[in-house]
Amino acid sequence: MKNARHLADEIRPTGFTCLMCGGCCSRGEDDGNLVLVSAPEIRAIMDFTGLAWDDIAEPYPDMMPAEGGGEFTLAWCLRRTETACIFLNENNRCTIYPARPLICRTYPFAWEEGKLSVYACPGIGQNTLCNEADTIAEECIRREGAEAEDAERTGEIFMTMDLKPGEYAVVDSEGVKRIG
Ligand code: SF4
Repeated sequence: MKNARHLADEIRPTGFTCLMCGGCCSRGEDDGNLVLVSAPEIRAIMDFTGLAWDDIAEPYPDMMPAEGGGEFTLAWCLRRTETACIFLNENNRCTIYPARPLICRTYPFAWEEGKLSVYACPGIGQNTLCNEADTIAEECIRREGAEAEDAERTGEIFMTMDLKPGEYAVVDSEGVKRIG
């Protein structure tokens, strides 16, 4: 596992500063900007907002055929308006900031397969050094652990899935959830 201090040393020279442009929370030109959210994160947003699960998240749209019939997907995404995440307000501020998912806390960075990934963002290179490097590094490492734990639990549940033809489900770390 990567040490947060060493990861911060890699993040700091990128000069990242969030410009509050809302770009990472918006659909983008290719509409590919889906924000993945785990079952525990959806529960945290439910607690924070009082909203129901289905008001917060929708199934990841790429369904796969299940053995023996039915179709499934392995992820949830935050719901979006026609332009952006439902939690982005008109001032480009996140209205669930204390409960936002780890992917939002770490963007444009991720600690993936033993190396730092840096995704496209106009905030890169804004400063000589990234002032938030220590916090982002800690969140990247927390995210890596949470995602690994979630994937392991989801994998165990996936092995028990028994969908019938015509059934659709999201498999997450809580169970097989039949939809629609
Ligand atoms: S939860 Fe907040 S930070 Fe994450 S995409 Fe939505 S508005 Fe942006």
